[in-house]
Amino acid sequence: MNRSIIVAVCALCGAFLLPAVLRASGGSAAEASSTFTLVLDAGHGGKDPGALGRGKGREKDINLAVTLAVGKLVEQNLKDVKVVYTRKTDTFVELDERANIANRAKADLFVSIHTNALPNKKVYTGSETYTLGMHRAADNLDVAKRENEAIMLEKDYQSRYEGFDPKSAESYIIFEFMQDKNMERSIRMATLVQQQLRSAGRPDKGVHQAGFLVLRATSMPSCLIELGYITTASEETYLTSSRGVNELSTAIYKAIRKYKETNK
Ligand SMILES: [Zn+2]
Repeated sequence: MNRSIIVAVCALCGAFLLPAVLRASGGSAAEASSTFTLVLDAGHGGKDPGALGRGKGREKDINLAVTLAVGKLVEQNLKDVKVVYTRKTDTFVELDERANIANRAKADLFVSIHTNALPNKKVYTGSETYTLGMHRAADNLDVAKRENEAIMLEKDYQSRYEGFDPKSAESYIIFEFMQDKNMERSIRMATLVQQQLRSAGRPDKGVHQAGFLVLRATSMPSCLIELGYITTASEETYLTSSRGVNELSTAIYKAIRKYKETNK
């Protein structure tokens, strides 16, 4: 009886304690592995609005609304999934801290939710999902640069990120492609997200690789979803509507459910 109380308390204060406690107390390993930890990362927030629409749409608000809706669906329907949020309110969280939250929680999956933008009145619609990788990243440098620029709002970002300059193409050389153990699962998750978004009626802009700092620092399968293009008027209307939030979050929830089913 005491043992289960200790386990519950330790799980709350630091997931890394849990396996040690279970081993030391002779607890069941099955108990430890029955919980799947999902980290949901709503991009930007606080002083960093992210991309801005032509109307009143702000990326940080869209990302948060969809993230909270995904989390609610998971919490209601997948009882063995523990959901950890990098933010649940309009606050600024550093990119490396977002990854640290996931690493500390020993997450099984990290899903970062963002909204895309294009300069110069270019009209583009649809959703795309990224995994970390550099072999085709030259094509996707612009989106990585834009998302990584959030670190410029952080204190001492140059020392925190070892001189990384999000605007300089040369900085991305440090992202040399590594065949990492999480790559296959990350691509699987990204593919499921795109399948579900396509089923929900979203134009499918595919699965891509790019050098996102937030994905680079996580040590579990991870992907970054660009929900749509806030700079396209029809997309901005959709992304900021309750219908849009419902459809997008349901699609992402279904992808998480399928991913979990196929990665037991
Ligand atoms: Zn973003």
